[in-house]
Amino acid sequence: SRKKLVAGNWKMNGSFDSNEALVLGFLPEVDDQVDVSVFCPFPYLSQVGKLLEDQRVTFGAQDVSAKPGGAYTGDVSVDMLKEFGVKQVLVGHSERRQYHAESSVAVAEKAVAAIQGGITPIVCVGETLAEREAGKVEAVIASQLDPVVERCSKFVESGTWNLVIAYEPVWAIGTGVTASPEQAQEVHAMIRARLNAMLGPEVAQNTRILYGGSVKPGNASEIFAKVDIDGGLIGGAALSSDDFSGIIRAA
Ligand code: 13P
Repeated sequence: SRKKLVAGNWKMNGSFDSNEALVLGFLPEVDDQVDVSVFCPFPYLSQVGKLLEDQRVTFGAQDVSAKPGGAYTGDVSVDMLKEFGVKQVLVGHSERRQYHAESSVAVAEKAVAAIQGGITPIVCVGETLAEREAGKVEAVIASQLDPVVERCSKFVESGTWNLVIAYEPVWAIGTGVTASPEQAQEVHAMIRARLNAMLGPEVAQNTRILYGGSVKPGNASEIFAKVDIDGGLIGGAALSSDDFSGIIRAA
C-alpha cells in the first residue's frame, strides 16, 4: 500500500531565521510512518539541505527547467538541484501556470527532465472555479495530465517511473475553502482510473496522489482517510511548525 506523503510548499516565503525555526519546530514530529518533504525557494536549498542532513525529511525546489543548461536566464537545471541533494521537485503548480504561462506540455517536459535526472517530480493539476461550475473538471484534469503520462510512459517501460501527482483545485488554494473529502476523492479516483487505463494497474496502484488546497490540522485527517488520497501538498499551513506538525500527525 502507498505510504502517505506530507509535502510543504513554502512558495515565496522564508528567511534564514524563519526557515530554521520552522524546520527545527516540526522535525520532532517526523517518524517513519509518513514521508515528509519541504519545497523551499532556490536561495534556501543549501540552508535547508544542511538543516535536514541525516533527518527523515527530504526537500526540493518549486520549479525546474526542462533544459539541461545554456542560455536560459533565470532558470535552474535538474543537475544544479541535484548538487544540493534535492530528491523531488514541484512542477506545474497553478501559480506557475497562471503567472508564468506554463503550458501542460512545458510541465510535462519538466517532469521528463526530472525523472531522467533521477529526481521525483510532483506534478500539480487542478481546475478553476469557473471550470468546475461549467462541468469541465474531468476534461481539464485530462488535458493537464495526459501530456505528462504520454511523455513519461517510457519510464514505465524502463522500470524507472517515479512521479507523484498533486490535485490542487485552484479555488481551494489559499482561500480557506477546501474541497470536501468526497469532492477530492472523486477527482483522485478519476486520476487513478486514468493512470490505470493509460499505464496499467501497477502504476495506478503505486503512484501517490496528494491533495492540496487549504489543508489544515483540523481537516487533514478526514481528507487523508479517503482511499485514493495519499497525503497532502500544504501551502499556508506549512509555514507554521505547529500547523505542519499537526498535519504530519494526521497522516
Ligand atoms: P494552501 O494550503 O495555502 O491553500 O496552498 C496549497 C498549495 O498551493 C500548495 O502547493
